[in-house]
Amino acid sequence: MKGFLSGLVLFALTVTSSIAAADPIKVVASFSILGDMVRQVTGDHATVTTIVGPDADAHVYQPSTGDAVAVAGADVIFVNGLGFETWSDALIENAGGNGEVFVATEGVTPLRVEGEIDPHAWNALTNGVIYVNNIAAGMAKVDPENAGDYRANADAYIAKLRKVHDNAKKAFSALPKNRRTVVTAHDAFGYLAQAYGLDFLAPVGIDTEAEPSAKELAGLIAHLKKTGAGALFVENITSPVLVEQISRETGLKIGGRLFSDALSEKGGPATSYVAMFEHNLEALITALKPES
Ligand SMILES: [Zn+2]
Repeated sequence: MKGFLSGLVLFALTVTSSIAAADPIKVVASFSILGDMVRQVTGDHATVTTIVGPDADAHVYQPSTGDAVAVAGADVIFVNGLGFETWSDALIENAGGNGEVFVATEGVTPLRVEGEIDPHAWNALTNGVIYVNNIAAGMAKVDPENAGDYRANADAYIAKLRKVHDNAKKAFSALPKNRRTVVTAHDAFGYLAQAYGLDFLAPVGIDTEAEPSAKELAGLIAHLKKTGAGALFVENITSPVLVEQISRETGLKIGGRLFSDALSEKGGPATSYVAMFEHNLEALITALKPES
């Protein structure tokens, strides 16, 4: 009986360790856009869990027990940083675990909006390249055996991002000066505006938690009525109510929906970072180009 039991224990140990050897690295990414970037770099070498999922708002997210379990079991954790995930420090600390934490925006030149750092750095593809390099470096540190694969995946992915960026630059440079104003619900596109010479206005600031004062909203509506220029867009992560009100009061049409802080659900138009960018860029160009 004793021999049988110890045989079983030995068998169990052997099975466990052989699974462990082939186990992919466990990675947690704080939100869906970053999660996709991480998957592009890690390929089959990692399983990637995303905390804030598609169409969800990371600004006001409340972590669940499941999130804490994922963080506790993670080998690597990637966050955006720049104050985007106000909940991540507490989550990582309270969850425990030994996962190494990397900040994807390390090395990005931050934009400031009314003195506050704008965290939406992924909305410039040139920053996306910085994210991807940071992800590849982080993965190489934790899993040096596969560092070559991470670098190769990152390089191929960066080439794609640069191509989308170059095409967008060309398309936006053809727009006349009076067709460059865009209105969204919250101020998530400062980096995109800077990259392509656009002007984004938003009744809500860089954090979705704030609500605009009646005076600020009236000021924005008056400005749009006076200039008559502007394409209105609703967002996937915020309520369309404010933008619909602006549309009613200015007579400006809503040009569609932009994906600002999260990917779309499966089957939607923005299931990856590249698809999200292509969707947003095409929607903007279509709304802004002069009617012929
Ligand atoms: Zn945001």
